[in-house]
Amino acid sequence: MSELAKKYDVIIIGGGPAGLSAGIYTARARLSTLLIERAAIGGQIINAGKVENYPGYADGVSGIDLTQAMHQQAEKFGVQTLYDEVIALEINGKDKIVKTPQGDFISKAVIIAGGAERQKLNVPGEAEFTGKGVSYCATCDGAFFRDKTVAVIGGGNAAVTEALELTKFATKVTLIHRRHELRAAKIMEEKLLADKKIEILWDTVVLEVLGDKLVKSIKLRNIVTNKESALDVSGVFVAVGSQPATGYLKGLVTLDAVGAVITNDRLETSVPGIFAAGDIRSGSIRQVVGAAGDGAMAAINVGKYVSG
Ligand code: NAP
Repeated sequence: MSELAKKYDVIIIGGGPAGLSAGIYTARARLSTLLIERAAIGGQIINAGKVENYPGYADGVSGIDLTQAMHQQAEKFGVQTLYDEVIALEINGKDKIVKTPQGDFISKAVIIAGGAERQKLNVPGEAEFTGKGVSYCATCDGAFFRDKTVAVIGGGNAAVTEALELTKFATKVTLIHRRHELRAAKIMEEKLLADKKIEILWDTVVLEVLGDKLVKSIKLRNIVTNKESALDVSGVFVAVGSQPATGYLKGLVTLDAVGAVITNDRLETSVPGIFAAGDIRSGSIRQVVGAAGDGAMAAINVGKYVSG
C-alpha cells in the first residue's frame, strides 16, 4: 500500500457498499480519497453467504466477493485504505479533521458511511459469553460451530440470512422469534421454511444465556403460554436489528430519534461538506443496492462541493 498523506480532498468513513461505491466515484473524479474502515472491508453484507438481490448477479454473489470486488475497483482508481477506527470528527474552518488512533487526517469533505452495528439482546449471560458462543456474525464465526447445534435470535432478514448461512456448519439451527410472523422477505422465508436443518420456535424470547467456559444452553419463555424451557446449544447468533454507528458524531451533525444521520436530498448533513450514505443515513432502505446508490450520490455532490 502506498504511504498515506495527511490531507485529502475527501475522507470516507466506512468500507461497506456505500463507502466503496462513493470511493469509486470520488477517485474517478480525481479527488484524492482516503477510505477508513475499522474492521473488515464489506460491512454488514459480509454476513450474507449469497446476495441474490443485487442487480447483475442472476445466480447471486457472496457478500464478501461482492464487496471485495468493489474494494479492488475503488483502489484501482486510486482510493487509499486505512484500517483504523475513527474516534472523532472535528471542524476547523472549512477543514474536516478525522481523528484516529494513528493520527489526524484532514479533508475538504467527508462522507460518513459507517453503517449500522448489531443491537444487543440485553439478557443475562449475553455479554459474558460474547466470543465464547454468543456471536453477531455467522460468516465470521459460523465455522467454529461445525457439527454443533446453534440458535439464531430474531425474525428479520438478518436472522434468516444468518440461519441459512449456519446450516453449512451446524447440525441443527433453531431460529427463535418473539412473534409468529417473520419480518424477512418472502423469498427468504420460503428458503428458511424449506430447510430441513432449521427449526423455528415462534412466540419465544430468550431469558438467559447459560454455560461455564462456553455457552451450553439458553433459557427460553413462550410468551403465549408463559412456559419456560431450556435449549441446549453451543452457539447463539443474535440478529435482532441494528443501530446506526454514530456515537462519535453526537453534537456535530444532526441525528434523528434512533441516532441516524439526517441529510438533505443531496445527502449533505447539517454541516456543509459532510455527507452521509448508506445504512447510517436516516431514511435509508438498508439494502446493498441502496447503499451503493447513496455512495454515488454523495460522491457526486462532494465533487460539486469541493469545486465550489
Ligand atoms: P429488522 O428487520 O429490524 O429485524 C429485527 C428482528 O429482530 C425483528 O424480527 C424483531 O422482532 C426482532 N427483535 C428486535 N428486538 C428484539 C429483542 N429485544 N428480542 C427479540 N427479538 C427482537 O433487522 P435486521 O434483520 O437486522 O435487518 C436490518 C435491515 O437490513 C432491514 O431493513 C433488512 O431488510 C436489511 N437486511 C436485508 C437483507 C437482505 O435483503 N437479504 C439481509 C439482512 C438485512 P419483531 O419482528 O417482533 O419486531
